[in-house]
Amino acid sequence: MIQVKNLSKHYPDKVALDDISVDFPAEETTAIVGPSGSGKSTLLQALNLLERPDQGILTIDDISLDLAKPLTSSQILQIRQKTAMVFQEKALFTHLNVMKNLTEGPIKVQKKSKQEAEAKAQALLEQFDMTELANRYPYQLSGGQQQRVAILRALAMEPKYLLLDEPTSALDPELEAQVLRVLKDLAKKDVSMIIVTHNMAFAEQVADQIIFVDNGSIGYAGPTDGFFHSKEARIKQFLGAMS
Ligand code: ATP
Ligand code: MG
Repeated sequence: MIQVKNLSKHYPDKVALDDISVDFPAEETTAIVGPSGSGKSTLLQALNLLERPDQGILTIDDISLDLAKPLTSSQILQIRQKTAMVFQEKALFTHLNVMKNLTEGPIKVQKKSKQEAEAKAQALLEQFDMTELANRYPYQLSGGQQQRVAILRALAMEPKYLLLDEPTSALDPELEAQVLRVLKDLAKKDVSMIIVTHNMAFAEQVADQIIFVDNGSIGYAGPTDGFFHSKEARIKQFLGAMS
């Protein structure tokens, strides 16, 4: 489980996260939703310390860190080994082909052998029906294919938690559907996914849990059904505006 307690992030002119506490259970899919500028990316990035909160406790499984104190690079590395982040776009190494994109991290960061890394990459490509892309360079792929490779590249690191920040928002509807299919497949497996999305239909279908971030605070955290059938005025207003 990932747990944050009393997490705050202040920018000079904005409180991005205001003392929030929330849990992300392992092996479940959590969708983080909310209005633009509400703090979703800040929260997601706090989970692998890409964005450093001012205070709070971050716990990932057996690692617990007080974020108000200085962190050592080995503490940051421990957190990053458990998590992998997939960004909105432009995530691939443009000078490397697909196979090398998938093996770079395992070889350079995790010190795996080339054979082991390539076998893992090959297995992932097969699993997602993408073997024919192995030798292509990113510029030879469609946007949807690039984004699927970006997801596989994160999976190649075998993270326990996969963090995704609006992974389809840069894609047209057809390509978005391709990527969402991959994510739905993953959600059925034992991958723990935390995904920021504006796509409410997708969130309703795949998420076990919804976290609604509203103006730096948690407006809802709980089962997906409860969110989409909420009687609370603010949630109904948000869902109404999104549909
Ligand atoms: P979106 O849906 O548009 O991606 P979001 O919910 O991901 O929005 P965040 O990116 O987490 O929102 O930003 C939360 C708030 O913090 C916003 O008001 C934003 O303007 C502010 N913010 C984010 N990064 C910075 C920064 N580096 N400096 C100052 N303010 C920032
Ligand atoms: Mg964002």
